[in-house]
Amino acid sequence: MDCIFCKIASGEIPSTKVYEDDTVVAFNDLEPQAPVHILIIPKMHIASADEINEGNSAVIAHIFEVAALIAKEKGLSNGCRIVNNCGNDGGQTVKHLHFHLMGGRQFGWPAG
Ligand code: AMP
Ligand code: ZN
Repeated sequence: MDCIFCKIASGEIPSTKVYEDDTVVAFNDLEPQAPVHILIIPKMHIASADEINEGNSAVIAHIFEVAALIAKEKGLSNGCRIVNNCGNDGGQTVKHLHFHLMGGRQFGWPAG
């Protein structure tokens, strides 16, 4: 399968990794939209959030544990934003599930 984030997870494509364990990788976004902009992905290929189910949701819980860990490490004590874009209407451009962990500035809602 030709998936760029699978290749980042395996190390085939380089990235600036900030966290890695058996099931999860986190790396800096190539086009950061905030002073801290990290993508957290499951190593297993899940295409998008609408493919989360009983069989694979444990890794999603773990991603949020990792997000809290990284937010602390990066000093985001004033808050942060964790975003998932799902499918075309959601603006998802890479079809491997990922969560954006963003911080270091104030965000608007619902955009910005
Ligand atoms: P989304 O629009 O939610 O699918 O987000 C995809 C994100 O992946 C964007 O913020 C891109 O900047 C980021 N991105 C795409 N390719 C790479 C890459 N090779 N390394 C790091 N980030 C990437
Ligand atoms: Zn993938």
